[in-house]
Amino acid sequence: MESKSITKLVYTVNTIILMLVYGLMFFFYLCKVHFLTIFSIPTSMIYLIGYYLIYKNKLDYYVWMVFSWLTLYMGVTTICLGYNYGFHLYCFSMIPTMFVSEYISYKLKKKSLKALHISLIIAVFYMFCTGYISIFGPVYQTSAKAETVFWIFNAISVFSFLIFYSNYLIRAIIISEEKLTEIAHIDRLTNLYNRHYMTKRMETLPCNETGSFLAMADIDKFKNINDTYGHNGGDEVLKAVSSVMKNECTDCEIARWGGEEFLIFSAAPLADGKDMLEKLRKKIENSPVCFEGQEIHVTITIGMAIKQPDQSIDSWINEADKKLYFGKNNGRNRVIE
Ligand code: GH3
Ligand code: MG
Ligand code: MG
Repeated sequence: MESKSITKLVYTVNTIILMLVYGLMFFFYLCKVHFLTIFSIPTSMIYLIGYYLIYKNKLDYYVWMVFSWLTLYMGVTTICLGYNYGFHLYCFSMIPTMFVSEYISYKLKKKSLKALHISLIIAVFYMFCTGYISIFGPVYQTSAKAETVFWIFNAISVFSFLIFYSNYLIRAIIISEEKLTEIAHIDRLTNLYNRHYMTKRMETLPCNETGSFLAMADIDKFKNINDTYGHNGGDEVLKAVSSVMKNECTDCEIARWGGEEFLIFSAAPLADGKDMLEKLRKKIENSPVCFEGQEIHVTITIGMAIKQPDQSIDSWINEADKKLYFGKNNGRNRVIE
């Protein structure tokens, strides 16, 4: 999640909580719970300061200020009204919130307190407040009807927080894992799969699989291209060749196997595999790469091999490699079947 959308989310949450504080303040006033009516004033101030901290992008300070106060607020309301109101339930929703905050701080590379430690403090505080109420009873007596209404409202609110934050956390982790997996599997320069991915992918084939298609392609005299047009020119060629491969070998998975070497793979047998490679070879030959106003002419040599039953992956790749080097030693710009 981007820092902008995190800020937007925090603004929204801050506004919702501030509205709740004002709503509760009005209720406390109607019920003549004077201490809580007055206590709502510094509480609302905390959220107003919160806007300033969000604006200044000091989300770490914001989070810890708001959550410390929220814990205090829950304790005070519970001691004043008793736990039939359900304010103490917020202690439970605070726990995932703390962990989400630590996670967001980590993402934003900001310092954060450990959610584990804060959660333990909240748990102890919860025990203290509910214990106090069990022994001494609430400070104020209000109507049973209000208790029920509040219990329902607070329970719904706590469930919403729990569901929202837990869902947010798991989605964020899944998205992050997907991104990491992609980074781990993709070659940055060409956007093709990397060797690591392709090796793992080929290992998923059953050993008695037969007919699967593999080709090893290598750019001819690439060193000369680098020497003539520089490393950047060489990189442009690698990108252009990769892009042509993707367009021409649509039924295949393609990996950058080494510097200027590519592995083209299809688990399912290809009826026209040789024709496809010939088309690819010609396309690359006839598509000079434009670089700094010059045209770079590129050719590739390809060796292909069809998987034999019980052939190991290594020997299968070796077979394609041998054919590739046969092509290299016999004129280049060829497809060897
Ligand atoms: P052949 O036709 O026999 O394949 O000759 P070649 O020059 O293509 O082969 P050689 O293995 O001698 O040279 C490969 C060159 O590829 C050497 C290396 O500097 C270059 N190379 C490897 N990775 C990259 C890269 O990411 N970018 C660029 N620009 N060059 C690279
Ligand atoms: Mg080469
Ligand atoms: Mg090579």
